[in-house]
Amino acid sequence: MKQIAKKTILNVKPYVPGKPIDEVKRELGLRRVIKLASNENPYGPSSKVLKAMQGAVKNVNRYPDGGCFYLRQTLAKQLKLSPDQLIFGNGSDELIVLAVRAFVNPGDEVIIADPSFLIYDIASRIAGAKIKAVALKNFRYDLASMKNQVSKKTKIVFLGNPDNPSGQYFTTKEIQGFFKGLNRDILVFIDEAYYEYVTASDYVDSVKLLKMYKNLFITRTFSKMYGLAGLRVGYGMGNKELIDILNRIREPFNVNSVAQAAAIACLKDKSHYQRLAKTFEAQRKIVCKALDKLGLIYVDSCTNFILVNVKRDSSLVCKKLLKKGVIVRDMGFWKLKNFIRVTIGTDKENKILIKTLESVL
Ligand SMILES: *Cc1c(COP(=O)(O)O)cnc(C)c1O
Repeated sequence: MKQIAKKTILNVKPYVPGKPIDEVKRELGLRRVIKLASNENPYGPSSKVLKAMQGAVKNVNRYPDGGCFYLRQTLAKQLKLSPDQLIFGNGSDELIVLAVRAFVNPGDEVIIADPSFLIYDIASRIAGAKIKAVALKNFRYDLASMKNQVSKKTKIVFLGNPDNPSGQYFTTKEIQGFFKGLNRDILVFIDEAYYEYVTASDYVDSVKLLKMYKNLFITRTFSKMYGLAGLRVGYGMGNKELIDILNRIREPFNVNSVAQAAAIACLKDKSHYQRLAKTFEAQRKIVCKALDKLGLIYVDSCTNFILVNVKRDSSLVCKKLLKKGVIVRDMGFWKLKNFIRVTIGTDKENKILIKTLESVL
């Protein structure tokens, strides 16, 4: 079958997700396992969201509303956008794939940062794109070099804001500078999966920029702060014409009905999640202090995860942590030698992380 499969697929390395808790328990015979590897929200959905989900479960014999009517109305109102400027996806990952599928022909170029979120690279490779990866500079995007890489063949530039694994964000000034003089025949894809965590006052309000730039597409997700990673729902915002293009290739029932009900409930329970953002920020500071005490260097982040330099073979450190029931992410795959990425968990989980890390090191 390999001979008849698309050539572009054969050099794709499959995405390796963080290990599920049950898998680690099963394989290592452990009772207590904590997962701080996939930037999930350890508290899960709020009680109001759970209730909305329970209500929706009764109707899963029916196909979902393919147009996500109520979710669309609720979100459009909150964002002060027109409903036709929104598209929903089976996670925001699906929107990355849709954008690539809609715009990239084999041989076209896609510009990404290195290291960055792996799905940009994987989706682009599958489409047969030539990938131009621009190295981060001190863990921040080198936007000038990325702009220098733009050619007539460039179709998409991916900007993670904040990006994963670096945890850094863009200011309004930086984004406007990037658009300045940039050919408008290029899709600028801003991925804001961690938008809800950022408290910095100079963080770009990218939705405002949609009026100015027709080639801008922004995605966000309910998987991270909103704690719905297992349900798969995210959204994209852009110019009407862009959304219309993406809708042509979207599967008709890509967002399930329980996810739609849960997402609406999340949007209506904003204060709960705003409080949670404060909790995560406070916990992140506590973890950073503990890392300082351990003498470890890390990349200070505005999200719910931190890149930590463990100053020795990171895969070995991850294996040892795993044996003690702590799942974190080895950054070797991202070519960040000696780095691990840890997600901020509950107070109790963070204490276990630090204690276990100390004993392993
Ligand atoms: C987690 C993540 C996503 C994808 O989340 P979905 O669950 O597919 O919505 C997108 N971008 C970045 C940078 C992420 O870390």
